[in-house]
Amino acid sequence: MPSIKDIMQTMEYGPAPESNAEVKAWLSARSAGIGHFIDGRFTSANGDLIDVVNPATEDVIGRVAKGTADDVDAAVAAARAAFPEWSALPGHERAKYLYAIARHIQKRERFFSVLETMDNGKTIRETRDIDIPLVARHFYHHAGWAELVADAFPQHRPVGVCGQIIPWNFPLLMLAWKVAPALAAGNTVVLKPADLTPMTAHAFAELLVEIGLPAGVVNIVQGDGETGAAIAGHPDVDKVAFTGSTDVGRIIRRQIAGSGKKLSLELGGKSPFIVLEDADLDAAVEGVVDAIWFNQGEVCCAGSRLLVQEGVAPRFFDKLKARMATLRVGDPLDKTMDMGAVVSMKQLSRIKTLLKAGEEEGATLNLAPVALPEKGAFCTPGFFTDSHPANSVSQVEIFGPVATTLTFRTLDEAVALANDTRYGLAASLWSENVNRAIELAARVKAGVVWINATNMFDAAAPFGGYRESGYGREGGRAGMLEYLTTGWDKQGKVRAASAAPIDVAPATGKADRTAIDVTAKLYIGGKQARPDGGQSYTVYGKGGAAIGEAGLANRKDVRNAVEAANKATAWGGVTAHNRAQVLYFLAENLEQRRDEFVAALAATGAVAKPEEEFEAAIRRCFWYAAQADKFDGAVTATKSQHVTMTVNEPFGTIGVVAPDEAPLLALLSLILPAITMGNRVVAIASQAHPLIAARLYQVFETSDIPAGVVNLLTGERDALAKTLAEHDDVAALWYCGSEDGSRMVEVASAGNLKPIWSDLGRLRDWLDPRFGQGQEYLRRASQVKTIWLPYGE
Ligand code: NDP
Repeated sequence: MPSIKDIMQTMEYGPAPESNAEVKAWLSARSAGIGHFIDGRFTSANGDLIDVVNPATEDVIGRVAKGTADDVDAAVAAARAAFPEWSALPGHERAKYLYAIARHIQKRERFFSVLETMDNGKTIRETRDIDIPLVARHFYHHAGWAELVADAFPQHRPVGVCGQIIPWNFPLLMLAWKVAPALAAGNTVVLKPADLTPMTAHAFAELLVEIGLPAGVVNIVQGDGETGAAIAGHPDVDKVAFTGSTDVGRIIRRQIAGSGKKLSLELGGKSPFIVLEDADLDAAVEGVVDAIWFNQGEVCCAGSRLLVQEGVAPRFFDKLKARMATLRVGDPLDKTMDMGAVVSMKQLSRIKTLLKAGEEEGATLNLAPVALPEKGAFCTPGFFTDSHPANSVSQVEIFGPVATTLTFRTLDEAVALANDTRYGLAASLWSENVNRAIELAARVKAGVVWINATNMFDAAAPFGGYRESGYGREGGRAGMLEYLTTGWDKQGKVRAASAAPIDVAPATGKADRTAIDVTAKLYIGGKQARPDGGQSYTVYGKGGAAIGEAGLANRKDVRNAVEAANKATAWGGVTAHNRAQVLYFLAENLEQRRDEFVAALAATGAVAKPEEEFEAAIRRCFWYAAQADKFDGAVTATKSQHVTMTVNEPFGTIGVVAPDEAPLLALLSLILPAITMGNRVVAIASQAHPLIAARLYQVFETSDIPAGVVNLLTGERDALAKTLAEHDDVAALWYCGSEDGSRMVEVASAGNLKPIWSDLGRLRDWLDPRFGQGQEYLRRASQVKTIWLPYGE
């Protein structure tokens, strides 16, 4: 007779299907086609309809309209019309609506879970236990922000009409991530779901009718990429929020360049999953299950590159193979399945093409010995071994259930491999040594780091990427700021289009040589440098007199300056206290040259109140010195037994382009916040009044600012700005120049997707601390890293 142990080992799972009868009835009642939700009403589904397919069965489960430019117009008009009243509601009133949405999602949790599973192919286990509960959590959390927004974000107001474009991998969850903060802040919304997964967004619209959300506050336009492009490009949309592929992120960046629209991009990733030899290997193996096989690997932050320390790698891979053999792949409505179908047959073939390329490059594909259903977009889970860092599968986002693997010997090697990617969305680190894990967390370039955990999300924990994974954060305080504005960038008058002329010929007849000649050189890597092209240009002052020459920097000088800045990495590791001391010392040294600076400002002929400008410059040094050790992170309340830390990290090298007005104060107002947060700077001084820069670098030289931390160039503003915008090693760029220049730098930055702040070519009153200094500058100078650290057994 077989023992109980034998029976347990041979026992098969029985089928445990979740009923989908109600959802089928709901779909059948809408079989004529699903239209849009505009101004509180559902439109009928006219024109070209898009088939919606359940990828697990390949059955068409419905059809949706493809939104046209006219539909987008109507939706934006409805959102615009609803905005004044919605944004003027007391936060408490908006909170009630958000709370009602959360409650109703909870009451319809099973319905939404089944519908999501049928639409997307992901398992009911995940929709029921992860997606839909997180949707409810997001609306609860943001009901709180609606209540608090006025107190928590003084001087801020909602941005206006938000165009939101979401992908198919977490359809309702991505909707919640977009809609909840937008509404909490007082914005109105036009949202487009992915055409592969439009159903839960439609059901959500029905829920909005049920709770009585005012018409026009949320509008949902169904459709494909063209519809998305019409929303992003619509002139009356004030903010675009996009989640999806990096390629489309770039298209949107270029499309809306110069429009002044606020933009947040949550793009792709190739996130490292690092296993140190002191890790709990069994826990790490379970981590891989959640990192790359969760949601069929269709997760932007999937741990898709397994980096394993050499000493434990063979053992770890054996354990992984054994665990992989127990995975169950099949009917996503069956509660016992670990993996369902990928989103479409097209996505399946895309994944297979990438896997084939990996094998052709010499990597070994280890697949789980699991039987797949005969029909449907099912993909065998697996992982590559013998892959190399340069293999396409190690670099490209597969967006399927297959990871690559690499081994490393030392912590430094692990960091180098982890950061060897153009992305920077997430990282998962496994070590039982907390010191080592935290050191690694600090050195990995990623917006989210999970220690001994993976793929954890919470509405209070900011989520978003570094580098080509995009910019902006979703969740928590940082996420709210994406939907708020001070409006100051758009207040000033438009600056005159052209900066001063670049005149390299001898200035005859206009020279005012009453004082000793001033020739501003460039300042690169802590040294004064002659411009590479060997040219200087004439600087004109009061009454149009020639008052000196400034170096005419070119592309090569920009490259040299960026190289020098990138070597000065130690500045980011200096304590905030030390950075503050340097800034105080800078103020002290500046003060000693007060008369000289005031005279130089007066000589430009462009500064109405030189004394005042100088005084404000001193105060600005003090203000940022004060902030250096106070603009810090937080510990957020997410899950129990987790310390979730948000840290404000420097970007690295920031490009700064100063305007012509306030040639000392504006330049310093841009440099100071950047270096306060630990960044290095390559700054282009005022084109018209560059001689101030020459005096300023003499002060930097004597103020303990390490070589390379501040580099100063003079020359043709927009030509240098373009080189900075295109440079891959410049992590962010701030531009104060013309309207055309603002557009130009945004277009030029699309290649490497660096965050740009431009003043839209508008003058600002640099003397007024509201516009010339503040936490807004410090926020722009830092990126939020969220580190999840569990505790307890
Ligand atoms: P896309 O980036 O094309 O789609 C994301 C959303 O953008 C969808 O709603 C899509 O519409 C819409 N869209 C497409 N083109 C435009 C455009 N020009 N302007 C505005 N909106 C547009 O992702 P795919 O679906 O094509 O997936 C391709 C790959 O992208 C995946 O294999 C994966 O690597 C990556 N990806 C990453 C995601 C992430 O979360 N980071 C999510 C999804 C995909 P529609 O789909 O209806 O055509």
